[in-house]
Amino acid sequence: MREILHVQGGQCGNQIGSKFWEVICDEHGVDPTGRYNGDESSDVQLERINVYYNEASGGRYVPRAVLMDLEPGTMDSIRSGPYGQIFRPDNFVFGQSGAGNNWAKGHYTEGAELIDSVLDVVRKEAENCDCLQGFQVCHSLGGGTGSGMGTLLISKIREEYPDRMMLTFSVFPSPKVSDTVVEPYNATLSVHQLVENADECMVLDNEALYDICFRTLKLSTPSFGDLNHLISATMSGVTCCLRFPGQLNSDLRKLAVNLIPFPRLHFFMVGFAPLTSRGSQQYISLTVPELTQQMWDSKNMMCAADPRHGRYLTASAMFRGKMSTKEVDEQMMNVQNKNSSYFVEWIPNNVKSSACDIPPRGLKMSSTFVGNSTSIQEMFRRVSEQFTAMFRRKAFLHWYTGEGMDEMEFTEAESNMNDLVAEYQQYQDATADDEEVEYEEELED
Ligand code: GDP
Repeated sequence: MREILHVQGGQCGNQIGSKFWEVICDEHGVDPTGRYNGDESSDVQLERINVYYNEASGGRYVPRAVLMDLEPGTMDSIRSGPYGQIFRPDNFVFGQSGAGNNWAKGHYTEGAELIDSVLDVVRKEAENCDCLQGFQVCHSLGGGTGSGMGTLLISKIREEYPDRMMLTFSVFPSPKVSDTVVEPYNATLSVHQLVENADECMVLDNEALYDICFRTLKLSTPSFGDLNHLISATMSGVTCCLRFPGQLNSDLRKLAVNLIPFPRLHFFMVGFAPLTSRGSQQYISLTVPELTQQMWDSKNMMCAADPRHGRYLTASAMFRGKMSTKEVDEQMMNVQNKNSSYFVEWIPNNVKSSACDIPPRGLKMSSTFVGNSTSIQEMFRRVSEQFTAMFRRKAFLHWYTGEGMDEMEFTEAESNMNDLVAEYQQYQDATADDEEVEYEEELED
């Protein structure tokens, strides 16, 4: 078995993480007490259950999940929520101090004090695994705990398990749903870490999530609950190929091999179709052509960047439900043929698709999209502009230097993110021909 160890940290990380577990428990037929209550006639629900769950005595399934925070509130609500009893009580690790939306507190002071207790729990879970494939971390980048302490944990795990994969579900901040003005600082410092220490990052951008709720789902004042409904649907879709039997992207490393042509460019745009709102009763049923069309639409992307402003290096699609795989293949080919200028021609066959029989709850069919698009630089540019506006005047820096941080780390984080933007641009402009020229020049040298 190839196990994945899940960690969720901070308010946002714990909120989206616990929603993820509610959704996948339902899909695998695991009830809130951890008992299997699924469809006995088929074994797909249980065939790969060990990827995310440990089997405890009495046949109970327990999430392989570690929950951390620097304050008790969010985790208290999870514990008293619908699936609160399913988690292993020892795996709740929390402090009392809070991080005050300060990355430095999460990464260097308060979080650094608590990190060893978290690593003890992580180690215990990892030792229990038959053959751990890697880790997934849920967090926001705009606050202090998920962001600062989350990236501290990621770097510690990388040090201790250098050959295991690290996947993140990272929520990027937007002024449209913002708590504080320093979020661009926290996010930039985090991106600096994620570029170096994570293998693959699923980008969940609050700006796009807000726009989907407001424009497409017509919710006038979207709440975190509404945003998180979109996130949990997407997380279920993205992990579907890891959780159910199938061929494509069946583990974290295969997913990475298909999607990452250059190691630093591992930030993915994810999309979902059909989009539904929380508690919506209307039953949406789409055809394969409709699903395909929507899935590629910028309005369905969980990242505020328009794929038509860039090019796809690679992409992958997962269809769920009963449908004809021949039709899926035809529709996907159709999109690529009609839009060939939006795919780099120097990676042939850079779009893969697959199908899983089991649809998500409430839908007959759905599709999830994971794309490595150079247009994602638009989101990094947005954060970078907000960062630079404040950093130029050294606004709010004292909160960070007061925790012992050096200004230098801000400068380095800023240039690392600007480099990332430049690298996306470079591959966006690259054509098969100029690659050849460079290659010939190299040969001549
Ligand atoms: P932490 O507890 O210190 O990690 O801080 P938070 O997780 O509250 O981080 C603040 C950032 O996360 C801000 O950008 C918020 O808009 C965002 N955020 C907080 N809670 C949620 C949530 O439940 N869902 C989403 N999508 N974003 C959240």
